[in-house]
Amino acid sequence: MSTTTGVQALVRRTHEERVLAALRAEGALSRAGLAQRVGLSRTTLSEITAQLLDRGAIVVLDTDAAVRRGSGRPAERLALDPSAGQYLGVDFGHRRVQVAIADASHEILASGLERYDDGLAWDERVSLAFDTIDRLSSEHGLHLNALQAVGIGVPGPYTGRHGDHSVVAWNRGATPDGVDRSFATRFDAPVTVDNNTRLAALAEAVSSPEGASDLVYVRLSDGVGGGLVVGGRLTRGARGFAGELGHVTADPAGTVCRCGKRGCLETLASVPAILAACRVQGADVTDLADLAAAVERADPVVDAVLRRVGSVVGHVLGAAAMTLDPVEVVIGGEIAHIAPAIVEQAARTLRYELYSIPVDGPCQVRAGRLRDSDGAVGALAAIFHQSPLLAGYPEPETSDERNTRRSAQ
Ligand SMILES: [Zn+2]
Repeated sequence: MSTTTGVQALVRRTHEERVLAALRAEGALSRAGLAQRVGLSRTTLSEITAQLLDRGAIVVLDTDAAVRRGSGRPAERLALDPSAGQYLGVDFGHRRVQVAIADASHEILASGLERYDDGLAWDERVSLAFDTIDRLSSEHGLHLNALQAVGIGVPGPYTGRHGDHSVVAWNRGATPDGVDRSFATRFDAPVTVDNNTRLAALAEAVSSPEGASDLVYVRLSDGVGGGLVVGGRLTRGARGFAGELGHVTADPAGTVCRCGKRGCLETLASVPAILAACRVQGADVTDLADLAAAVERADPVVDAVLRRVGSVVGHVLGAAAMTLDPVEVVIGGEIAHIAPAIVEQAARTLRYELYSIPVDGPCQVRAGRLRDSDGAVGALAAIFHQSPLLAGYPEPETSDERNTRRSAQ
């Protein structure tokens, strides 16, 4: 992408955002009213509105003929098209895809979920996602002609753009190579793809009232993943595994991890590992519902297990916090809500780990605001907040670039 094209695209996008924001606030405006409100020249404004009309982001609502005094052509009044989905968030998990469609004001118009088997091929996952998007659009009477951007979360490390997906030996299942191209071709909109846990870290950062510029995120789920927001930016690292806290060694003599090492955090703090540890101690828990019930009745065996897990998580987070000095440390995953003892103990351990740092107060440790069922929201956050949190991140592909690349293939 040439810098000029990038800057022009950014300026156009900024203008569009201003026009959409004005229509969002006012409901409907004439072009003259809009020009006055957003401070653009009539020429620039009519280019911008023509593009928005062309894409179906806005519609001509009516004319001011009925209320107009004097002579001259009646002025058209423009308004947001309430049926235009402008942003698409898609979250591919190991066993399900979630989709959320948002409008110009970033409000979610429709969302849905489709389950699949762990081993389903990526092209079939993508076509299930397309089916879900079609179903939601028709159920809610939406169109996606004005789609501004698509954000996609995928499991496992993701290093680059244009389907440059790093194959990491311990990444479960096939790699989602070409997912971005499939969506770009289907929707003709810029596509941003990243690891879904990392997108959740970004969503947690922007969900903070002041926006956490430095944040450490760990998610305890089927596996353990994480993400880092550093200096207001989501960080991938040199090879795409920045923030993979699940594979930090927590017990050198522990059990073998799927990555091949021994005693990774994941072998102790993933949901299956926690449930297994409860059973070893004699507690009858096979799933999260059982665990929730045990927490509810203050089962001392389960509580002891959860506190041990919290302590292990706190040690690993302590090392990360010592490295990054974050504003917030966030523990995500349903289990952080079901078992607050984990978060409490992790916070206690982290305070101990950072004991030597002479500061007024330690960083905040909290459970994630997003639930596991909010994956698509993380993908939307990535495209809503491309700046400043995503500043410096690989830019989404433009349609020009896409055409160039297609013709080269
Ligand atoms: Zn590991």
